[in-house]
Amino acid sequence: MSDFSRPIMGISKCLEFDMCRYDGGRINNNFVRNMKNYVDFVPVCPEVGIGLGTPRKPVRLVNIGGKKNLYQPSTEKNLTEEMHNFTQKFVTSVDVLDGFIFKRDSPTCGIDNVRLYHKLGNSGYQKTSGMFSEAVAAEFPNMVKEDEKRLDNISIREHFLTRIFVLANLRESLEKQSIEKLFEFYSKNMLLFLCHDEKLTAELGLIFRTEDDFEIISKIFKKITYEILSSPVKKTPMIDTFNYIFNYVKSKLSESETSYYYSLIDEFENDLISHSQISPLLYSWALRYDLKIILEQSLFNPFPKNLLLDLVESKKEYSVL
Ligand code: SF4
Repeated sequence: MSDFSRPIMGISKCLEFDMCRYDGGRINNNFVRNMKNYVDFVPVCPEVGIGLGTPRKPVRLVNIGGKKNLYQPSTEKNLTEEMHNFTQKFVTSVDVLDGFIFKRDSPTCGIDNVRLYHKLGNSGYQKTSGMFSEAVAAEFPNMVKEDEKRLDNISIREHFLTRIFVLANLRESLEKQSIEKLFEFYSKNMLLFLCHDEKLTAELGLIFRTEDDFEIISKIFKKITYEILSSPVKKTPMIDTFNYIFNYVKSKLSESETSYYYSLIDEFENDLISHSQISPLLYSWALRYDLKIILEQSLFNPFPKNLLLDLVESKKEYSVL
């Protein structure tokens, strides 16, 4: 899968796009900068959108009468209604969102971990989601969402990128209104899906034998594909998939190549190496023996690899666990 579909992504505008933070700043983010080459972004700053200037006095979430309110302590303004209206306008202005990168910790954009104060004035708080991010996620339940800090963790980023690029590809395949196109989508993603969930992948494949109505197939297809990709790759199905690919080339390899492969599998099984040290080897064998059926699989290239470059160069990996 070298021609990648372009995901349509929402993003908090202060991440790389605009100096719209409450303090007049912008957050530079190399990952977002790289992504602009591959993604169609829809940048939005809801606080500026409701007329708060830049710079501005901070806002916070406050529980008033059991309801989440957006409140600006310095002016004593309750901005809840303005934010609801702005959000409503935003969600009706976009048809599709494959994903969203939200600014962490913001009372408006944060996904979780946002402070909801128990009452007006400084008091205790509990953790909740931001007012804007929560409403957007409710409107687009299948949208893949993350905050910018979590995306500094390589496993989380790989999973995020896999989802948005494969789901953008699914969206484009569905737009063609053709069962054949959906089958092509399934075929090229089959090994990747197997690494996430073997049972659901088999279920997905069965649809082509039991249904011939495009509308029914596409509905089931969307549901199961989202489900398959919602959890990260798992080790056991991944080893099964590697062995499935290995069986294509096994008889052509030398004894030492075979034993090297099994030693890598053993190390992967024991958490000594990552899967990314095995798949290039399998890919190189598929290239050597011109195995198109394997080379066409998205498993080896589910997203543009240079979207990991900033992590590799900076060697930073934000710990979220
Ligand atoms: S976190 Fe959201 S509301 Fe705050 S500055 Fe960024 S885009 Fe605007």
